[in-house]
Amino acid sequence: MRTDFDVHWDELAEEVLSGMKEWRLQHPKATLRELEGALDERLGKMRARMLQDAALASAAADIKAAQETERPICQACGSRLVERTVAARELVTQHNQVLKPERSYGVCPTCGTGLFPPG
Ligand SMILES: [Zn+2]
Repeated sequence: MRTDFDVHWDELAEEVLSGMKEWRLQHPKATLRELEGALDERLGKMRARMLQDAALASAAADIKAAQETERPICQACGSRLVERTVAARELVTQHNQVLKPERSYGVCPTCGTGLFPPG
């Protein structure tokens, strides 16, 4: 499993904190609802990015980390699968944040059958 997926999390959090303070200073008469909206917007972006980063850690681990002999075997012809990476479909999470995760999957070098890990 990758462990470096959180390299940008400090600056991500800092952006939320300083951005929210700046927004507050620029909106001295903001209502509670407006404050909540501004905060949710920033947390939503951070949430989406953290979710994507955290998901990538396991996606990258799926096949790449597996030893040759641990890789799944093609159901159709029995060959060892090799790794391919593709852009997965976009996911829209809370606050309309769009994720564009990459997925790693196994494909048979002999007959082309693909095996996607669950999840
Ligand atoms: Zn095959």
